[in-house]
Amino acid sequence: MTESNNKWEYAPSLESTSHIQLKERYDLFIDGKWVKPSDNRYFSSINPATEEKIAEIAWASDADVDLAVKAARKAYTEVWSVMKPSERAKYIFRIARLMQEKARELAVIETLDGGKPIRESRDIDIPLACNHFFYYAGWADKLQDAFPQRNIQSLGVAGQIIPWNFPLLMAAWKIAPALAAGNTVVLKPAESTSLTALKLAEIIEASGLPAGVVNIVTGHGDTGAAIVNHPDIDKIAFTGSTSVGKLIQKAVAGTAKKVSLELGGKSANIVLEDAPIDQAVEGIVNGIFFNQGHVCCAGSRLYVQESIADEVVRKLKQRMESLYLGNPLDKNTDIGAINSKEQLQTIEKYVEIGKKEGADMYQVTCELPAKGFYCRPTIFTNVAQSSVIAQEEIFGPVLTVQTFRTIDEVIQKANNSPYGLAAGVWTDKGSRIFNLTSKLRAGVVWANTYNKFDPASPFGGYKESGFGREGGLHGLEAYLK
Ligand code: NAP
Ligand code: MG
Repeated sequence: MTESNNKWEYAPSLESTSHIQLKERYDLFIDGKWVKPSDNRYFSSINPATEEKIAEIAWASDADVDLAVKAARKAYTEVWSVMKPSERAKYIFRIARLMQEKARELAVIETLDGGKPIRESRDIDIPLACNHFFYYAGWADKLQDAFPQRNIQSLGVAGQIIPWNFPLLMAAWKIAPALAAGNTVVLKPAESTSLTALKLAEIIEASGLPAGVVNIVTGHGDTGAAIVNHPDIDKIAFTGSTSVGKLIQKAVAGTAKKVSLELGGKSANIVLEDAPIDQAVEGIVNGIFFNQGHVCCAGSRLYVQESIADEVVRKLKQRMESLYLGNPLDKNTDIGAINSKEQLQTIEKYVEIGKKEGADMYQVTCELPAKGFYCRPTIFTNVAQSSVIAQEEIFGPVLTVQTFRTIDEVIQKANNSPYGLAAGVWTDKGSRIFNLTSKLRAGVVWANTYNKFDPASPFGGYKESGFGREGGLHGLEAYLK
């Protein structure tokens, strides 16, 4: 440990990139083939940690989306919906196995393309993505057991649109239950993080999944809109911002399309005075700084009971100073790159607003790399409940800290949000956990932990955080009639 800071100095430990295979240019994966975009348009995907271009990606037009939907419809009618469920399960298992075999490559590509620390993509994103395929493969031939005494049927063609914060994991959340329930898929990844979805397309190709069952169309927002507006899609599953979610809901109103929306959040992490403080501080750090705060359910509002507030904030600052910010490919790195320049600007705009609103800002004092998009972990204390930084989703490593005296007060403050995705509660007492979990209006409430996910457990929001659940049997039901 050096005198000047409380950080251990580690030698760099870079994950190797020699084993990954990337093409210079990716086309669209439609009907089991790689198809050039009809407008011959491509865009670049860059590494946000270095701003270097990684590959060119096809930009799908309305005509390309139409081709993908036609392929998905044909595959649905002629192959996938009439296949024995136990046969469908074998394909899904095979995809999971192939993903596992390629886990290391997928992790490195996820980190290069999206900026998240390799430790997270290696230990969390990719294993969880594989586990979603394993989990839903197991249900594929047990649907009737899962929903006894109900006459269940697949929906048809699912259009799926996903964001950039957990690219492969979100693709797995969407594709695995859809296939297990007997549907076919047209999926669009986010424009800044298409690469692991395209690698998944290669895996799907290698698995021998019948052509057209899964189609991956890359592009920008207009490509997503083409999916939403396509008349021959039976179900839209969207994860992303509340603003785009609202557009989608308007677009499908009055149509027969089923919809599930997983939207934004501003989740409360609540520390009571009897909580194990060091453990809670770890949980706060994990809640907001994990994946640079690019987590829909990030614990971005901290509520600490007044009697322990000084100690918690002091320990939190100390812990923040020991975080490693830098090259996401370094295995020591805790905080990687912000996903895009636009997102960095959004976060910086909110930091300025917080300062103007009169809150006290504390930022980690580390140096930022000369190139790439980076943001220092930041906390604001003395924050008013009505302030913009406590109300709006920032989607970056920025935490607001408020205090409270009574349990009723913190329930009211925590629920005073347009969102309701997740919450955390830190206390030594089980009765307090039960009291709070029953009163917090949030889809997930973690007790003495934060950001824990499992394929078997449903996830989703209240209020403007969306509707519908993903994961578990709930996630399967969303793809069934
Ligand atoms: P976003 O701008 O809403 O984009 C999400 C996806 O929708 C992207 O693939 C995007 O394409 C596409 N899209 C953009 N405009 C569209 C339109 N008019 N019609 C159809 N599709 C359109 O969100 P983001 O900035 O990528 O992601 C961050 C947001 O997602 C945050 O608010 C976060 O809270 C939320 N999120 C929620 C969950 C959850 O489970 N609740 C999980 C993760 C993220 P382009 O990328 O090409 O623009
Ligand atoms: Mg990228």
